[in-house]
Amino acid sequence: MDAKLLTVSLSMNDIIRLFSKIVVQPSGCWEWKGHRFGRGYGRTSLNGKLIIVHRLFYAWAVGPIPTGCSKNTPNIDHLCRNRACCNPVHLELVSLKENVRRGYHLTVNLNGVVKSISEWADEINIPYATIVKRLKSGWTPERTLTEPININKRRTKLVRGHQLI
Ligand SMILES: [Zn+2]
Repeated sequence: MDAKLLTVSLSMNDIIRLFSKIVVQPSGCWEWKGHRFGRGYGRTSLNGKLIIVHRLFYAWAVGPIPTGCSKNTPNIDHLCRNRACCNPVHLELVSLKENVRRGYHLTVNLNGVVKSISEWADEINIPYATIVKRLKSGWTPERTLTEPININKRRTKLVRGHQLI
């Protein structure tokens, strides 16, 4: 039974303090420039307690996070694969099993070329989170990797002969 929930409410002082340690990256990541621990996750203190920064922001901006040590307790997944990121839009609450399954090992096959999503993201200049979202919405690998992003008009690139406009 995981009845406990992590809930967060922030005072204006907390908000100012926390955001002073965040640098927004071109990828949209809110990168934590304060203390990091373990494999790169941000950590800070809130009301006298240590808290993992991306969990803090998810609980504040999205909603309560179930806590506990059971293997069924959901975990926060970074859709952007950037552990220092705490942009709630890049975070998703998923089961531990799903989190592990996603890992770094998800691959996409485009015309016989198999690469991990991070490799595709670097190569075609589409953010990791966008690729994941597109695939989850049922897009084909070809459309996922070739359809331009129209939000911020990124530079065009060639992907195996497909001109991105
Ligand atoms: Zn991010």
